[in-house]
Amino acid sequence: MTTSRTARRTPRPRDIETIRVLLHSGEVARALQVVGDRWSFLLMRDAFIGVRRFEDLRRRTGASRGTLTARLNAMVDAGLFYRSPYGSAPSRLEYRLTEKGLAFYPVALCMWTWENRWGGEFGLPPRLIHTTCGKSLNPSLVCAHCETGIGWRHLVFKPGPGAHSYPAPPTSTRRRESAASSNGDGVDTTMFHSVDTVGDRWTALLVGALFFGLHRYDDINAALGIATNILADRLRRLLAAGVIEQRLYQDHPPRHEYHLTDKGWDLLQFTIAMHDWGTHWIPSPHGPGLLLRHRPCGKRLRVKVVCGSCGAAVEAREVQIHGPARKSAAQRRGGQGKKPLVRRT
Ligand SMILES: [Zn+2]
Ligand SMILES: [Zn+2]
Repeated sequence: MTTSRTARRTPRPRDIETIRVLLHSGEVARALQVVGDRWSFLLMRDAFIGVRRFEDLRRRTGASRGTLTARLNAMVDAGLFYRSPYGSAPSRLEYRLTEKGLAFYPVALCMWTWENRWGGEFGLPPRLIHTTCGKSLNPSLVCAHCETGIGWRHLVFKPGPGAHSYPAPPTSTRRRESAASSNGDGVDTTMFHSVDTVGDRWTALLVGALFFGLHRYDDINAALGIATNILADRLRRLLAAGVIEQRLYQDHPPRHEYHLTDKGWDLLQFTIAMHDWGTHWIPSPHGPGLLLRHRPCGKRLRVKVVCGSCGAAVEAREVQIHGPARKSAAQRRGGQGKKPLVRRT
């Protein structure tokens, strides 16, 4: 824990109200209604490495048959997958990504990058090769207009015409299924750290509130409109994962603020990629809720992922998986954890 006193300006109620509207009507919130749970993220992970059949998806995600059926149906309804017959029996169907599903690739790559940098408890993801240049892929998210990087200070926010038009937040307090509950044989545990950290609607919105500069429990609570037990649970999880840290701002009685660590700030690329996908593939009938402008070029933000070695835009079909998932330092030391299985495709 870091101890510090901040002379920071306390957000006014009007600022908190604006942040509340931007968080709930923003494009990320809409995207999370479609993919904001761990199974959807794991299914997208597997889809991008070419896993298409129900039994393979079930084994690799560790989802129960019922859960997997429900998630796949929802993702077909949401237009991310389509069913396609295979083999001789017409009843055999596999799940393939639609154009909308394929467009999720930058989000998946940002997650892979974050996992590569900060994950590892369950094994690091496999190395990726950019076939265009033959080098190891080191993806980076840039502005599609001026091709420069995207940091928080490069972004200008404005409520769009769709601000204020959003569904009531879900009130479910259903416990999240954690990584530990799905360690069956053949389960691929790579990406579990990012999926268990941000593969949840409330956690992602909570990180968003911190990006917007809210640090105190009551302010975050007011902006999220979240049940206090859920907020306490998500703060605990993010502290345990090292995504946020506490800073003491008052001694008597002791009170803390929550701040993003470097690991937490590093979720910005993932969040921006999600905003971009939500903007274009889950449009609101009322127009965008949150408009983002890229300060260096002044244009409305659109993003693309480029290869750090050759600078070319990265397409899913130009990326090869190289070798099995790598062992993390913790696994090499203690040998704990199941050996992740990644099928070469
Ligand atoms: Zn730009
Ligand atoms: Zn390249």
